[in-house]
Amino acid sequence: MLIDELPTPCVLIDRQRLLRNVRDMQKKADENGVRLRPHTKTHKSVQLASIQIDEGAAGLTVAKPSEAEVFVDAGFDDIRLAYSTVGEDKWHRVLKLMDRARISFCVDTPEGAQAASDFFQSHNAKAEVLVEVDPGYGRCGVPWNRHTSEDFVAFVRDLPGLSLSGILTHAGHSYKPPEHEAESISDAIRRVAIEESGHMLSFASRLKKKGIVGPENFEISIGSTPSIRHFENSTRDGFTITEIRPGNYVFHDAVQQALSVASWDQCSMTVLTTVTSKHRTGKGVDKLFLDAGKKVFTSDTGYGTSGYGVMLYNPSRRQPLPHARITGLSEEHGWVQVSGGSTLAVGDRVQVVPNHACVVAAQQARLFVIENDTVVDTWNVDARGCLV
Ligand code: PLP
Repeated sequence: MLIDELPTPCVLIDRQRLLRNVRDMQKKADENGVRLRPHTKTHKSVQLASIQIDEGAAGLTVAKPSEAEVFVDAGFDDIRLAYSTVGEDKWHRVLKLMDRARISFCVDTPEGAQAASDFFQSHNAKAEVLVEVDPGYGRCGVPWNRHTSEDFVAFVRDLPGLSLSGILTHAGHSYKPPEHEAESISDAIRRVAIEESGHMLSFASRLKKKGIVGPENFEISIGSTPSIRHFENSTRDGFTITEIRPGNYVFHDAVQQALSVASWDQCSMTVLTTVTSKHRTGKGVDKLFLDAGKKVFTSDTGYGTSGYGVMLYNPSRRQPLPHARITGLSEEHGWVQVSGGSTLAVGDRVQVVPNHACVVAAQQARLFVIENDTVVDTWNVDARGCLV
C-alpha cells in the first residue's frame, strides 16, 4: 500500500529513522556501561518494544500497572513502573504480574511505602521497589539533598513487604528553558544532565556513609531523552549509574529539535493530514485547515516551538515548509497560516512533525510504518488507553 492510499489523519513512522534512533541510543548505553530500559509510554507498542529488546534493551519501563499487563501478556519479563505506585487496586495487579515477570515500582512517601509493604506482606509477598528521588525537577521523589531522604531509604529497606533494589530519578527539567541569557539551550540541558547523574551518585554515596546501602547490586536509574543526550557515566564511592530510561528518542519530535537534542532528520514520526479548506485573508496570508486538530496533535507546546507542529515541504528529506505555521487547533481542525500565500490546494496531503510524539502515539489505534512512499507494516498501539 502507498502512503497516498491511507485515510487521514494518521500517524506514520519512518522505519529507517526509527531503527537509527533505537540503535544510536543502544550504542550510547553500551558505551557508558549502563542497561537501557526504554520508557514505553512513548509508543505503547509491543512490536516497537520487541525491536528495542532485540537491539539490546535490558527490560522495559512503563508508568502504570495496566501497561505492564499488556507487555507481560506479550511475553516481556522485566518491567519497571517508573512511577510512585499507590493503591490496593494497583498493588493487586502488580502482585498478579509478579508470578510471571520481574516487576518493580517506585515509592516516595512513608505512608505510600508502608501501605505497599502491608499489602504485599499480607499476601506473603515481597515487592521490588526503588526509591524515587527528585533531582531538582520538583515533581515526585524525595529531595536528593536532604538527610530525611536518607532516613526514608533506610525506612524502605527495613519494610518487610518490600525489597529495595535502588534509587530512580527523572530529570524532567531537561525540557526547561536556559536559566539566564548567557546560557545556550544545549548548555542548560548539559547542566541538568550533569546534575541528574551527579546528584544520584552523591545521594548514593551519602547512603553508604551512613551504612544504609552499599554499591553492590544497587541500581541507580536515570533518564529523559534530553538529559541522556549529554550523559556520561562516572563512578563515586563504588556506585555507578546502572540504567537509563529515555522514551521519546525512538521518535523525537519538534520539541527535541527545538532543544537541539535531535535534528529534523532524526524525527521518525509524522502526522499525515489533508488540507480540507483554504482561504485568502487579503493580507497576503493564506489560511489553510488540516483534518487533524487537538485530538491528534494535542495542544502540547514546548521550549522553542512555534505553533503546534511543523509542516514539511519535503517529507523524505524532512525539510520544513517555509512561512507556514500551525497557529491553532480546534478539536478536529488544524489552523494554518502561510504568509506570502501557499501553493497547497484543497485535497493536498501534508506531513507534520508533531510537537510531542508520545501523546500523539498514545491516541492512535495503530501506527503506519513506512519506507519511502510505501506502507511496510502496521503496529498496534497495544497499551492505548491503559491509564490505571
Ligand atoms: N522516566 C520517567 C519517570 C518519565 O516520566 C519519563 C518521561 O515522562 C521518562 C523516563 C522518559 O523521558 P523522555 O520522554 O524525555 O525520554
